[in-house]
Amino acid sequence: MFRKVFIIIHLRRFFVKRLGISVASASPIVAGDARAPTDLKGLLPEQLRALAIELGGPAYRGDQLFRWIHEQGVCDFEAMSNLPKAFRAALREAGAIVGNLRLLERRDSATGMAAKFLFEATAGQIESVLIVDGDRRTACLSSQVGCALDCKFCATGRMGFRRNLGAGEIVDQLLQLHAAATQRGERVTNVVMMGMGEPLLNYNEVTRALRIIRHADGPTIGGRRITVSTAGYLPGIRQLAADDLNVGLAISLNATTDEVRERLMPINRKWPIAELLTAAREYFDKKGRRVTFEYVLMDGVTDSDEDAHRLAELTREIPSKINIIPYNELGDEGQATGMTFRRPPRRRIDEFLRRLRDNTDHTVTLRESRGGDIGAACGQLYRQQETGRQPATATA
Ligand code: SF4
Repeated sequence: MFRKVFIIIHLRRFFVKRLGISVASASPIVAGDARAPTDLKGLLPEQLRALAIELGGPAYRGDQLFRWIHEQGVCDFEAMSNLPKAFRAALREAGAIVGNLRLLERRDSATGMAAKFLFEATAGQIESVLIVDGDRRTACLSSQVGCALDCKFCATGRMGFRRNLGAGEIVDQLLQLHAAATQRGERVTNVVMMGMGEPLLNYNEVTRALRIIRHADGPTIGGRRITVSTAGYLPGIRQLAADDLNVGLAISLNATTDEVRERLMPINRKWPIAELLTAAREYFDKKGRRVTFEYVLMDGVTDSDEDAHRLAELTREIPSKINIIPYNELGDEGQATGMTFRRPPRRRIDEFLRRLRDNTDHTVTLRESRGGDIGAACGQLYRQQETGRQPATATA
């Protein structure tokens, strides 16, 4: 027992010093516990090679591990038949595991256009959504358990922040959605970090997960097909712009004046709209990729004619796409949590779109929810499970 604890502590120091992985993320299962397991699903090939050497094996054992985990989807060391018995034993003794989130619930929308997955994670539950859109199969992944940013229209914001997910837990969401798609003869083609949590507040784990996701021996989803969505955490946007990870950026804008945005999204008090748009422009200048602006239409709050004109004006100088998302009402759940925003009537949505399109050269897309009947808005399925309520009628 003493020897085992010694080896685990030694390896945790190794993860922190040699691989640059935080103690918490090296042991995402029980952060801060010296005896907690280390999830190899969240390590890059070079990190697994370094681990293999540390355990007394040749470096290529790390590549074999990576392929078993990400190509074959194997989580049990005993099933990794080309690894020597002694090496498998060394992995176990070192406290290594290949994490596998437990699926608590899956809901498929009646239209077949979305499937929502609720997973058990330490300190709470997380959600992922598989979205069908033409030839695309997009996995919408969570980055945190809960969220600290407290956006007033968001069910996850009501949970508060519980903890950051480890890279392995983020990758595992994708692998499980990919397995579900494979059962239908399909594969996940796109990834959006737009589930529970603010991904740029969990920067290191999210970006390591995305490096694994785009790796040639892994899920192989290229950076062109990966998007990170932020509520407007500026230091994270600038860090991502400077990073060699070439992924798309989506900004959840949702208002055209600071007054309204501050009410909806408290983060706007720290980084108001003008600064956010400057950072968006810088992102385009550095990456050469159009930024996506997400704009949720809420009846009487963000859907006026003036909003449509201001939105066109604010985004005029930024090469971008604009997604208009009619609010996904929460029904009883919304009443219970004080979220009483409403989806605008169809005529108002059409008028907003017409005015916006008349005043901008950017591509404007109406994003209707493909999973309103399964509670496919951020954090809804989790809260329904927690409260035992049913989702509201399909909306956004
Ligand atoms: S909308 Fe996103 S950033 Fe805002 S509270 Fe919800 S999860 Fe957090």
